[in-house]
Amino acid sequence: HTSTLTGKVALITGASSGIGEAIALTLSQAGALVAVGARRTERLAGLTERMPGETLVLHLDVTDAESVRAAVDATVERFGRLDVLVNNAGVMLSGPVAGADPAEWKTMIDTNLLGTMYATHAALPHLLQSKGTIVQTSSTSGRVASAAGAVYSASKFGVNAFSEGLRQEVTAEGVRVVVIEPGFVATELASHTTNADMRALAQQLHESMRALQPDDIARAVLYAVSQPEHVSVNELLIRPTDQV
Ligand code: NDP
Repeated sequence: HTSTLTGKVALITGASSGIGEAIALTLSQAGALVAVGARRTERLAGLTERMPGETLVLHLDVTDAESVRAAVDATVERFGRLDVLVNNAGVMLSGPVAGADPAEWKTMIDTNLLGTMYATHAALPHLLQSKGTIVQTSSTSGRVASAAGAVYSASKFGVNAFSEGLRQEVTAEGVRVVVIEPGFVATELASHTTNADMRALAQQLHESMRALQPDDIARAVLYAVSQPEHVSVNELLIRPTDQV
Protein backbone atom coordinates (compact mmCIF):
# COMPACT_ATOMS: atom_id res chain seq x y z
CA HIS A 1 0.00 0.00 0.00
CA THR A 2 1.27 3.41 -0.92
CA SER A 3 -0.05 6.35 1.07
CA THR A 4 0.06 9.10 -1.52
CA LEU A 5 -3.46 10.24 -0.64
CA THR A 6 -3.26 10.18 3.15
CA GLY A 7 -5.77 12.63 4.62
CA LYS A 8 -7.38 13.35 1.25
CA VAL A 9 -11.14 12.95 0.91
CA ALA A 10 -12.70 11.48 -2.23
CA LEU A 11 -16.32 11.10 -3.33
CA ILE A 12 -16.99 8.57 -6.10
CA THR A 13 -20.32 8.32 -7.90
CA GLY A 14 -21.35 5.00 -9.41
CA ALA A 15 -19.10 3.08 -7.04
CA SER A 16 -21.38 0.04 -6.72
CA SER A 17 -19.79 -1.85 -9.63
CA GLY A 18 -17.20 -1.88 -12.38
CA ILE A 19 -14.84 1.04 -12.79
CA GLY A 20 -16.20 3.08 -9.87
CA GLU A 21 -15.76 0.17 -7.48
CA ALA A 22 -12.15 -0.28 -8.58
CA ILE A 23 -11.44 3.44 -8.21
CA ALA A 24 -12.90 3.41 -4.69
CA LEU A 25 -10.71 0.48 -3.65
CA THR A 26 -7.59 1.97 -5.19
CA LEU A 27 -8.02 5.42 -3.64
CA SER A 28 -8.76 3.84 -0.26
CA GLN A 29 -5.63 1.68 -0.53
CA ALA A 30 -3.68 4.86 -1.32
CA GLY A 31 -4.79 6.35 1.98
CA ALA A 32 -7.83 8.44 1.06
CA LEU A 33 -11.02 8.72 3.09
CA VAL A 34 -13.62 7.61 0.56
CA ALA A 35 -17.34 8.28 0.22
CA VAL A 36 -19.03 5.91 -2.21
CA GLY A 37 -22.36 6.72 -3.85
CA ALA A 38 -24.86 4.81 -5.99
CA ARG A 39 -28.43 3.57 -5.89
CA ARG A 40 -27.56 -0.02 -4.88
CA THR A 41 -26.35 0.73 -1.36
CA GLU A 42 -26.16 -2.96 -0.39
CA ARG A 43 -23.39 -3.37 -2.93
CA LEU A 44 -21.64 -0.30 -1.58
CA ALA A 45 -21.79 -1.77 1.91
CA GLY A 46 -20.12 -4.94 0.63
CA LEU A 47 -17.46 -2.87 -1.10
CA THR A 48 -16.58 -0.82 1.98
CA GLU A 49 -15.84 -4.04 3.88
CA ARG A 50 -12.93 -4.52 1.47
CA MET A 51 -11.66 -0.93 1.74
CA PRO A 52 -8.87 -0.42 4.26
CA GLY A 53 -9.52 3.23 5.14
CA GLU A 54 -12.46 5.20 6.49
CA THR A 55 -15.53 5.05 4.26
CA LEU A 56 -19.00 6.51 3.94
CA VAL A 57 -21.85 4.82 2.07
CA LEU A 58 -24.24 7.21 0.35
CA HIS A 59 -27.50 6.50 -1.39
CA LEU A 60 -27.16 8.63 -4.49
CA ASP A 61 -29.11 9.12 -7.69
CA VAL A 62 -27.10 11.46 -9.91
CA THR A 63 -30.15 12.33 -12.02
CA ASP A 64 -31.58 14.10 -8.96
CA ALA A 65 -29.75 17.36 -8.20
CA GLU A 66 -30.96 17.34 -4.58
CA SER A 67 -29.68 13.81 -4.03
CA VAL A 68 -26.30 14.83 -5.42
CA ARG A 69 -26.11 17.92 -3.23
CA ALA A 70 -27.02 15.88 -0.14
CA ALA A 71 -24.25 13.38 -0.94
CA VAL A 72 -21.64 16.13 -1.25
CA ASP A 73 -22.87 17.75 1.98
CA ALA A 74 -22.79 14.42 3.85
CA THR A 75 -19.23 13.77 2.67
CA VAL A 76 -18.00 17.17 3.86
CA GLU A 77 -19.92 16.85 7.11
CA ARG A 78 -18.35 13.47 7.81
CA PHE A 79 -14.76 14.09 6.69
CA GLY A 80 -14.49 17.88 6.93
CA ARG A 81 -13.36 18.53 3.38
CA LEU A 82 -13.45 17.28 -0.20
CA ASP A 83 -10.35 16.87 -2.36
CA VAL A 84 -11.39 14.55 -5.17
CA LEU A 85 -14.74 14.17 -6.91
CA VAL A 86 -14.96 11.24 -9.33
CA ASN A 87 -17.95 11.59 -11.66
CA ASN A 88 -18.17 7.98 -12.73
CA ALA A 89 -21.89 7.07 -12.64
CA GLY A 90 -23.03 6.26 -16.16
CA VAL A 91 -25.30 4.21 -18.35
CA MET A 92 -24.95 3.02 -21.93
CA LEU A 93 -28.17 2.05 -23.67
CA SER A 94 -26.89 1.43 -27.17
CA GLY A 95 -28.90 1.13 -30.34
CA PRO A 96 -29.65 2.87 -33.62
CA VAL A 97 -31.52 6.16 -33.55
CA ALA A 98 -34.35 4.81 -35.71
CA GLY A 99 -36.76 2.95 -33.48
CA ALA A 100 -35.06 3.92 -30.22
CA ASP A 101 -37.07 4.75 -27.11
CA PRO A 102 -36.33 8.43 -26.39
CA ALA A 103 -36.87 7.71 -22.68
CA GLU A 104 -33.55 5.85 -22.84
CA TRP A 105 -31.91 8.92 -24.37
CA LYS A 106 -33.17 10.98 -21.46
CA THR A 107 -31.77 8.45 -18.98
CA MET A 108 -28.35 8.62 -20.64
CA ILE A 109 -28.21 12.42 -20.82
CA ASP A 110 -29.62 12.84 -17.30
CA THR A 111 -27.13 10.37 -15.85
CA ASN A 112 -23.94 10.78 -17.86
CA LEU A 113 -24.07 14.49 -18.64
CA LEU A 114 -26.43 16.32 -16.28
CA GLY A 115 -25.45 14.05 -13.36
CA THR A 116 -21.82 15.01 -13.89
CA MET A 117 -22.78 18.68 -14.03
CA TYR A 118 -24.90 18.50 -10.85
CA ALA A 119 -22.16 16.81 -8.85
CA THR A 120 -19.54 19.21 -10.14
CA HIS A 121 -21.72 22.18 -9.22
CA ALA A 122 -22.39 20.89 -5.71
CA ALA A 123 -18.75 19.96 -5.06
CA LEU A 124 -17.05 22.97 -6.60
CA PRO A 125 -17.10 25.32 -3.58
CA HIS A 126 -15.36 22.61 -1.53
CA LEU A 127 -12.88 21.82 -4.29
CA LEU A 128 -12.01 25.49 -4.69
CA GLN A 129 -11.26 25.55 -0.98
CA SER A 130 -9.10 22.40 -1.04
CA LYS A 131 -7.59 23.06 -4.50
CA GLY A 132 -9.00 19.67 -5.35
CA THR A 133 -9.44 17.54 -8.44
CA ILE A 134 -12.47 16.55 -10.52
CA VAL A 135 -12.19 13.28 -12.42
CA GLN A 136 -14.69 12.62 -15.20
CA THR A 137 -15.18 9.11 -16.50
CA SER A 138 -15.77 9.95 -20.13
CA SER A 139 -15.04 7.38 -22.85
CA THR A 140 -13.42 6.83 -26.21
CA SER A 141 -17.02 7.62 -27.21
CA GLY A 142 -16.32 11.13 -25.91
CA ARG A 143 -13.85 11.57 -28.76
CA VAL A 144 -15.18 9.40 -31.58
CA ALA A 145 -18.85 8.72 -32.31
CA SER A 146 -20.05 5.53 -33.94
CA ALA A 147 -23.20 3.87 -35.25
CA ALA A 148 -25.52 2.60 -32.48
CA GLY A 149 -23.75 4.88 -30.06
CA ALA A 150 -24.97 8.29 -31.19
CA VAL A 151 -26.69 9.34 -28.00
CA TYR A 152 -24.18 7.73 -25.62
CA SER A 153 -21.47 9.55 -27.57
CA ALA A 154 -23.41 12.79 -27.40
CA SER A 155 -23.51 12.45 -23.62
CA LYS A 156 -19.76 11.80 -23.42
CA PHE A 157 -18.83 14.52 -25.95
CA GLY A 158 -20.91 16.71 -23.65
CA VAL A 159 -18.86 15.63 -20.64
CA ASN A 160 -15.64 16.48 -22.48
CA ALA A 161 -16.93 19.90 -23.54
CA PHE A 162 -18.21 20.70 -20.06
CA SER A 163 -14.89 19.60 -18.57
CA GLU A 164 -12.77 21.77 -20.86
CA GLY A 165 -14.91 24.85 -20.25
CA LEU A 166 -14.79 24.19 -16.51
CA ARG A 167 -11.04 23.63 -16.62
CA GLN A 168 -10.49 27.07 -18.07
CA GLU A 169 -12.64 28.58 -15.30
CA VAL A 170 -10.97 26.90 -12.34
CA THR A 171 -7.39 26.03 -13.22
CA ALA A 172 -6.09 29.43 -12.08
CA GLU A 173 -7.73 28.67 -8.69
CA GLY A 174 -5.73 25.46 -8.46
CA VAL A 175 -8.60 23.06 -9.21
CA ARG A 176 -7.65 20.35 -11.68
CA VAL A 177 -10.00 18.67 -14.14
CA VAL A 178 -9.13 15.20 -15.40
CA VAL A 179 -10.98 13.46 -18.22
CA ILE A 180 -10.51 9.69 -18.40
CA GLU A 181 -11.47 8.03 -21.68
CA PRO A 182 -11.55 4.24 -21.47
CA GLY A 183 -12.07 1.91 -24.38
CA PHE A 184 -13.76 -1.44 -23.76
CA VAL A 185 -13.70 -2.34 -20.05
CA ALA A 186 -15.12 -5.63 -18.75
CA THR A 187 -18.00 -4.45 -16.53
CA GLU A 188 -21.77 -4.84 -16.38
CA LEU A 189 -22.26 -1.61 -18.41
CA ALA A 190 -23.51 -3.25 -21.62
CA SER A 191 -25.73 -5.70 -19.74
CA HIS A 192 -28.29 -2.94 -19.07
CA THR A 193 -28.79 -2.33 -22.79
CA THR A 194 -32.38 -3.21 -23.70
CA ASN A 195 -31.58 -3.92 -27.38
CA ALA A 196 -30.74 -7.67 -27.48
CA ASP A 197 -28.67 -7.35 -30.68
CA MET A 198 -26.53 -4.71 -29.02
CA ARG A 199 -26.03 -6.87 -25.95
CA ALA A 200 -24.90 -9.76 -28.16
CA LEU A 201 -22.56 -7.44 -30.06
CA ALA A 202 -20.96 -6.25 -26.84
CA GLN A 203 -20.52 -9.85 -25.73
CA GLN A 204 -18.83 -10.70 -29.07
CA LEU A 205 -16.57 -7.67 -28.76
CA HIS A 206 -15.63 -8.74 -25.25
CA GLU A 207 -14.77 -12.26 -26.37
CA SER A 208 -12.72 -10.97 -29.32
CA MET A 209 -10.15 -9.16 -27.19
CA ARG A 210 -8.28 -8.89 -23.97
CA ALA A 211 -10.57 -6.23 -22.54
CA LEU A 212 -9.44 -3.67 -20.03
CA GLN A 213 -10.24 -4.51 -16.41
CA PRO A 214 -11.68 -1.90 -14.03
CA ASP A 215 -8.39 -1.87 -12.15
CA ASP A 216 -6.56 -0.73 -15.31
CA ILE A 217 -8.64 2.45 -15.18
CA ALA A 218 -8.32 2.84 -11.42
CA ARG A 219 -4.51 2.94 -11.80
CA ALA A 220 -4.86 5.78 -14.30
CA VAL A 221 -7.08 7.70 -11.89
CA LEU A 222 -4.60 7.18 -9.06
CA TYR A 223 -1.80 8.46 -11.30
CA ALA A 224 -3.78 11.59 -12.20
CA VAL A 225 -4.89 12.46 -8.67
CA SER A 226 -1.53 11.87 -7.00
CA GLN A 227 0.48 14.34 -9.10
CA PRO A 228 2.07 17.38 -7.44
CA GLU A 229 -0.16 20.47 -7.39
CA HIS A 230 1.44 22.13 -10.41
CA VAL A 231 0.76 19.12 -12.66
CA SER A 232 -2.69 18.86 -14.24
CA VAL A 233 -3.30 15.62 -16.12
CA ASN A 234 -6.17 16.80 -18.29
CA GLU A 235 -6.96 13.81 -20.48
CA LEU A 236 -6.13 10.10 -20.49
CA LEU A 237 -7.27 7.91 -23.40
CA ILE A 238 -6.85 4.22 -22.59
CA ARG A 239 -7.80 1.46 -25.00
CA PRO A 240 -7.28 -2.27 -24.79
CA THR A 241 -4.24 -3.05 -26.97
CA ASP A 242 -6.47 -5.40 -28.96
CA GLN A 243 -9.11 -2.72 -29.67
CA VAL A 244 -8.57 -1.02 -33.04
P1 NDP B 1 -21.23 -0.36 -14.49
O1 NDP B 1 -22.58 -0.57 -15.06
O2 NDP B 1 -20.52 -1.50 -13.87
O3 NDP B 1 -21.24 0.84 -13.44
C1 NDP B 1 -22.08 1.95 -13.58
C2 NDP B 1 -22.21 2.61 -12.23
O4 NDP B 1 -23.02 3.79 -12.37
C3 NDP B 1 -22.89 1.73 -11.20
O5 NDP B 1 -22.20 1.85 -9.98
C4 NDP B 1 -24.28 2.32 -11.09
O6 NDP B 1 -24.75 2.17 -9.77
C5 NDP B 1 -24.00 3.78 -11.37
N1 NDP B 1 -25.18 4.51 -11.77
C6 NDP B 1 -25.93 4.37 -12.87
N2 NDP B 1 -26.97 5.22 -12.85
C7 NDP B 1 -26.85 5.94 -11.70
C8 NDP B 1 -27.62 6.97 -11.10
N3 NDP B 1 -28.73 7.46 -11.67
N4 NDP B 1 -27.21 7.47 -9.91
C9 NDP B 1 -26.11 6.98 -9.32
N5 NDP B 1 -25.35 6.02 -9.83
C10 NDP B 1 -25.72 5.49 -11.02
O7 NDP B 1 -20.36 0.23 -15.70
P2 NDP B 1 -18.86 0.80 -15.80
O8 NDP B 1 -18.12 0.59 -14.56
O9 NDP B 1 -18.33 0.28 -17.06
O10 NDP B 1 -19.18 2.35 -16.02
C11 NDP B 1 -18.64 3.39 -15.23
C12 NDP B 1 -18.41 4.60 -16.12
O11 NDP B 1 -17.43 4.27 -17.09
C13 NDP B 1 -19.63 5.06 -16.91
O12 NDP B 1 -19.68 6.46 -16.90
C14 NDP B 1 -19.36 4.54 -18.30
O13 NDP B 1 -20.01 5.30 -19.29
C15 NDP B 1 -17.86 4.69 -18.36
N6 NDP B 1 -17.18 3.89 -19.38
C16 NDP B 1 -17.26 2.53 -19.40
C17 NDP B 1 -16.63 1.81 -20.38
C18 NDP B 1 -16.73 0.32 -20.49
O14 NDP B 1 -16.32 -0.23 -21.51
N7 NDP B 1 -17.22 -0.39 -19.50
C19 NDP B 1 -15.81 2.48 -21.40
C20 NDP B 1 -15.76 3.90 -21.27
C21 NDP B 1 -16.42 4.56 -20.29
P3 NDP B 1 -26.28 1.87 -9.32
O15 NDP B 1 -26.94 1.14 -10.45
O16 NDP B 1 -26.12 1.09 -8.08
O17 NDP B 1 -26.87 3.23 -9.07
